[in-house]
Amino acid sequence: MLNLKNLRFLCLSFVNKDLQVRRIQMSMSHPKRYFINTLQDYEKDSNLFTNQKWNSKIHETVNIITDRQDPSVNAADGGLYVGIAGIGYMFYHTSLSPAFVSEKSELLKRGLKYIIPALKYAERHERDKSAFLLGNAGIYAVAAAVYNALGDKSKADHYFKAYVALAANCQTHNLPHGEDELLVGRAGYLCGVLWLEKVFGKGSFPAKDIDEICKCVIESGRNYARRHRSPCPLMYSYYDTEYLGAAHGLSGILQMLLSFPACLQSDPAAEQDVKASVDYLLSLQTQSGNFPSAMDELGRRARSEADELVHWCHGAPGVVYLMAKAYRHWKEDKYLKSCLKCGDLVWSKGLLRKGPGICHGVAGNGYVFLLLYRLTGDPKHLHRARAFAYFVFTPTFSEEARRPDTPYSLYEGQAGTVCYLVDTMTPDQAAFPFFDVF
Ligand SMILES: [Zn+2]
Repeated sequence: MLNLKNLRFLCLSFVNKDLQVRRIQMSMSHPKRYFINTLQDYEKDSNLFTNQKWNSKIHETVNIITDRQDPSVNAADGGLYVGIAGIGYMFYHTSLSPAFVSEKSELLKRGLKYIIPALKYAERHERDKSAFLLGNAGIYAVAAAVYNALGDKSKADHYFKAYVALAANCQTHNLPHGEDELLVGRAGYLCGVLWLEKVFGKGSFPAKDIDEICKCVIESGRNYARRHRSPCPLMYSYYDTEYLGAAHGLSGILQMLLSFPACLQSDPAAEQDVKASVDYLLSLQTQSGNFPSAMDELGRRARSEADELVHWCHGAPGVVYLMAKAYRHWKEDKYLKSCLKCGDLVWSKGLLRKGPGICHGVAGNGYVFLLLYRLTGDPKHLHRARAFAYFVFTPTFSEEARRPDTPYSLYEGQAGTVCYLVDTMTPDQAAFPFFDVF
């Protein structure tokens, strides 16, 4: 696939002007990272993408996943992110939908089949034990929720307590690189707390533990920013890169801090530092609505347009959740405007070639519209969300999109797509997995 850098060289090699123009048009119509969006945008009262066929598409996709991905211990590495626990979550999430109420118990049992081997794997592997998306913590959290939904209170309590016990690990300085970020660090642990409190009720976690972890995250960000003379009051790094996006970066960390306002209030300067950091990130939003993926991509070192990342993990489709949270917290219009800019960017550049998943795929980007729909109630966003769901099943996508390394997983593969399709059917309660800002 050509990129714009190569294109400049290519142009010089052609003498024939007409041919040159044709090659340029070809390259421009096939950006390397995304499909050109030719889907019809919302027009008042249009009802092009309705709910009707999604039920059967969801069943078909679920059957593909279970036919091709055995619930074996060997496939449990990668936690919720790319391990089979993520498929367990998919079943749990689907079982909660009013559209699947008649299948609830069967869906939970099918989910448990994927959770049990993941728990066995977790017992044998202590590495990254407090990591939420990539390690054992996330597996315990989903196990607790599934057992709770099945009425097995004893097992639910056991795994809930196993999650709570891991808080101690997040309060030490023994966490690996990225000790504050979302996939393996403290922000991830807080993300799990937030999700479990939705399942088991607010206040089910020891407030002291949550407070202590939030303090660690703030202290760590202040210290790092001071040491590295960062222009942002809170800054973090993951393997020596100062990422800014949702997955490894500043945005995901700030979003989690904002999700525990009681902790911020206990330190008078903490909310001030969080707000100044959110505003710093906001100042980096580009004209087109995107956010750079790391601090070493600012200004003249910015990626070329052809190379920019419009993913949940890196870029606007992930930062949008922080801006939505900030809007709900501080009620300032600039955050809502930022969210809407993210939405327009995703509509034009969000049909990713990388696959159907939620981390760096079409479903993950479609979730931006479901967020905007819940935030504004504007039917345009629901239309766009359903248009993205529709696109995943077009021949263009089936034939030309890349196959992810873990094609049935929650974050890279079709399990995430299923969650997305379920959520497009019930948009009033839709939320990117573990990232609900409402
Ligand atoms: Zn990703």
